[in-house]
Amino acid sequence: MSNILVIGGGFGGLVTAKRLALELGKEHTITLVSPNRTFTFYPALVRLVFGDCSVDEITFDLPEALAELGVRYIQGEMTAVHPMLKRVAIEGGDINGEVSYDYLVIAIGRRLALGQIPGLREHAHHILGTKAAMKFSRAIDNFNEGRIVVGLSPGSRLPVAVCETAFALARHFDEKVKDGSISISVLFPGSLEDAFGGARLHDTLLEAFDRHKIHAHFDVPVSEVTKDEVLSTKKHRIHYDLLMLMPPFRGFTNLRELGIVDDDDFIKVDEKLRVEGMPASYAVGDAVGLSGPKLAHMAVRQAEVAAANIVSEIKGEEPREAYVHEVAAVIDSGGPDSIFLHYGVWKDEQTIKKGRFWSWAKDAHDAYWRHKAKK
Ligand SMILES: Cc1cc2nc3c(=O)[nH]c(=O)nc-3n(C[C@H](O)[C@H](O)[C@H](O)COP(=O)(O)OP(=O)(O)OC[C@H]3O[C@@H](n4cnc5c(N)ncnc54)[C@H](O)[C@@H]3O)c2cc1C
Repeated sequence: MSNILVIGGGFGGLVTAKRLALELGKEHTITLVSPNRTFTFYPALVRLVFGDCSVDEITFDLPEALAELGVRYIQGEMTAVHPMLKRVAIEGGDINGEVSYDYLVIAIGRRLALGQIPGLREHAHHILGTKAAMKFSRAIDNFNEGRIVVGLSPGSRLPVAVCETAFALARHFDEKVKDGSISISVLFPGSLEDAFGGARLHDTLLEAFDRHKIHAHFDVPVSEVTKDEVLSTKKHRIHYDLLMLMPPFRGFTNLRELGIVDDDDFIKVDEKLRVEGMPASYAVGDAVGLSGPKLAHMAVRQAEVAAANIVSEIKGEEPREAYVHEVAAVIDSGGPDSIFLHYGVWKDEQTIKKGRFWSWAKDAHDAYWRHKAKK
């Protein structure tokens, strides 16, 4: 009997645990550790901000969903890994001590490095989490005129949500954008190609921004935020009256001493998603050190690959499944400018499609996924 420990209860952790439970049955023990008892469907957070769904519709009880799968849940936070002993130190509600494993899957997402940009924490909104999203929502409700700036910080890896927020603001304030009392600007630290991991959608996206009267600014690496201005390393000073800035993403510093992380503390993996230099360990999702945007569909695909390879190892076989790094995303403009992007980061192959269909498709896909993840 093998003892598999999954750390993290987001897309990566939940899908890994679910796949393992379905493949392995009750013969092996699968345990998931997460500080949060709630699973949040992050891709719907932009809709939450604009009142298109409720918190209850995009969250569910994680221990309940895991219990139905036969997966044990521990509420707690991983504070250290001892690979030689195959043990993980956990602190939290259910346990303060060490838990052993035969196989480890690290799916702890990303850390928001708010302190990297002075003033960001105090003056800017972000939407990473239901509380932050609702706070931004209230600020929008109280906003009447002036300049709204939304942007991606250097090192932030979520361009889809930034673009969708800009489109949703343009729809929400349609009349005021037309009469000029509200303007919307979107900032990127480099080019759109950089933001989307190499995908070439500059012309398509710029055309859509133009049609919605959204002013797009490129090469604005934000370095500081004051109470009414965004400053960049390239000497920009951009005034704002309402600001949503996606914070820089980093990995977790407590893995540094193991020598398994890159310069931004993301975990280094091989194509089978095994953690480099740490036997019997896999990493999936935003925590992994791969280039380009960090997206849920990548976390899901990585979870499937890691689970398949663990099953092979348990059967005494070589891990066979390899991960292919691809961006597949819908940028929902709420109408005919919605974009479907499929881009092979390692292959440089790209498909772009445009149309209202992609807005409906994203809505339907989100609803289907939320339902499926709960079951
Ligand atoms: C506003 C927004 C919009 C988005 N839109 C899209 C979209 O349209 N399409 C798309 O594909 N993706 C989208 N994403 C990205 C997607 O949500 C993430 O890529 C995905 O959540 C990553 O999954 P994950 O499991 O790696 O991390 P997470 O979902 O962040 O889960 C990490 C888990 O690990 C837990 N954890 C953290 N530290 C520890 C620790 N030390 N010990 C134990 N547990 C720990 C956390 O509590 C959490 O449960 C969006 C994200 C946001 C915020």
